[in-house]
Amino acid sequence: MSRHIAGRGGRLSSSSVRPATFAAIPPHRGGGAAASAPQPSKTILRVFPRRTRATPDDANVRIGDPGFWDEADEVLVSVAFTWDIPEAERLAVAWKGRGRVRVGGPAMGTVGEDFVPGHFLKHGYTITSRGCPERCWFCGAWKRDGAEARELPIRDGWNVLDDNLLACSEGHIRGVFAMLARQTNRVEFTGGLHAARLKGWHIDLLSGLRRRPVVFLAYDDNNDLEPFIAACRLLKHAGWHRRVLRAYVLCGYPGDTQAAAESRCERVLSCGADPMAMVYRGQDGILPDGWRRWARSWIRPAAMHARQRTEAL
Ligand code: SF4
Repeated sequence: MSRHIAGRGGRLSSSSVRPATFAAIPPHRGGGAAASAPQPSKTILRVFPRRTRATPDDANVRIGDPGFWDEADEVLVSVAFTWDIPEAERLAVAWKGRGRVRVGGPAMGTVGEDFVPGHFLKHGYTITSRGCPERCWFCGAWKRDGAEARELPIRDGWNVLDDNLLACSEGHIRGVFAMLARQTNRVEFTGGLHAARLKGWHIDLLSGLRRRPVVFLAYDDNNDLEPFIAACRLLKHAGWHRRVLRAYVLCGYPGDTQAAAESRCERVLSCGADPMAMVYRGQDGILPDGWRRWARSWIRPAAMHARQRTEAL
């Protein structure tokens, strides 16, 4: 269960944490065929239309237009949101003449290659598989990266953003947890874990990590309810509490109402997790009327608990 969803808005807005990948990113080193005459390193600038908390911040990252001195061998414009495509196209023109410009990323439908830590996502994020067999109607991950989980080499990180890690083979999942056991930061699964696939041995692996990891599930529509309740029960039994157990709640999609979304959020609370509302956006990125304000009260746990306390008085 990934939160890499074309139709979600909000926070990291799922697709904003999706790494932009390009068909063939050259390595950051010279060819070096002749040992006596090493090739100079190729300069590659990664350009993002906007900064999110997952955007890398090294010296070769730019947000928006080029600076006066900027030039490179290659300029990779990375687009995570479909609604940023017009801005990415504008940037492709703005960067013309500063290097060979290519535009790619999830919003452009670029199929993800092996994950390179720190390249299009800040260090700490990792992706060990791409694609998802669940085929949720609102999600772009399976349309872009395939309707089965494609296992990638496991690279270090502590925030796992796989589309559907639990759809991978047991060997791969165990390999991912062996990598996570090496991390000193608290592990997070902000890409989400698909509740219907959560089994006892997954809980054992989660429980075996040094610190209790932050787990995100999802309750987007009524089909999710039963597996969501079962997963919460398993996790609560293993010691998870709401600070480390959260659930994305997609809302504002066609046919949804604020009353129904409110009831999903309340159901999440009653299951011992904290909801995180994510407002559906179409391809144009326009938020449906009235939902932004509504969703704000279902994003920050402190605010929603304060409101619940007030309402209980
Ligand atoms: S299709 Fe897969 S990756 Fe996309 S939202 Fe559904 S479970 Fe998550």
